[in-house]
Amino acid sequence: MKYRHIFFDLDHTLWDFDKNCHETLTELYHHFQLDRHGISSIEHFIKTYLNRNEMMWEQYRFGKIDKETLRNKRFDYTFYDLEIDNEILARNLSDEYVLRSPYKTNLFPGTHEALSYLKEKYILHIITNGFKETQFIKMNSTNLTDYFSEIILSEDTGFKKPDPRIFFHSLEKADAKVEESLMVGDNLEADIAGARSAGMDQVYFNPKRVPHQQETTYEIHSLMELLEFL
Ligand SMILES: [Mg+2]
Repeated sequence: MKYRHIFFDLDHTLWDFDKNCHETLTELYHHFQLDRHGISSIEHFIKTYLNRNEMMWEQYRFGKIDKETLRNKRFDYTFYDLEIDNEILARNLSDEYVLRSPYKTNLFPGTHEALSYLKEKYILHIITNGFKETQFIKMNSTNLTDYFSEIILSEDTGFKKPDPRIFFHSLEKADAKVEESLMVGDNLEADIAGARSAGMDQVYFNPKRVPHQQETTYEIHSLMELLEFL
């Protein structure tokens, strides 16, 4: 067997970020009665937030903004896009979002089945750019923690995916050779290009079947497809 170690991304790969975000924002929409503040459509509100959040995560990955800016400004920009001027409400939403969302428990279909199977044959790890205080809550709330040997956080290593140094650090921490290691993730830049630049094979998890030009070692559309070749 070629591989011994499998490294997983968490958000958007195992933990269904969009679904969990949707649930949290729907709660907050009602909690803060956002319809009274000029936000008439929940779906439009959520879509606007997801767009802004994704843009800001990309800036964070490349060190253009820090964690505090990412956390505190996401709702400011969302409100800006929605043409709502209410700084206090944006801050309250931001605080409440950070408190609630990590306790959401939606995982991609097949997460537990795939990990249970893989754990018998391989040593599993997590590499995440997500924040320390939220990633452990997410993994504990969804009973994921026990599958993994090493959980590597960019905040601890000082490097974020796609920087190859976080992959080198992870290999060292897991005592894994690069040629027997595989990275599974949803982000073509952070996970796939990042792992490739460190010399690791990659599995692109592409549940929405987004067309792309990137070269990947493997591509899957559901986690259970991992069982076909691992
Ligand atoms: Mg991800």
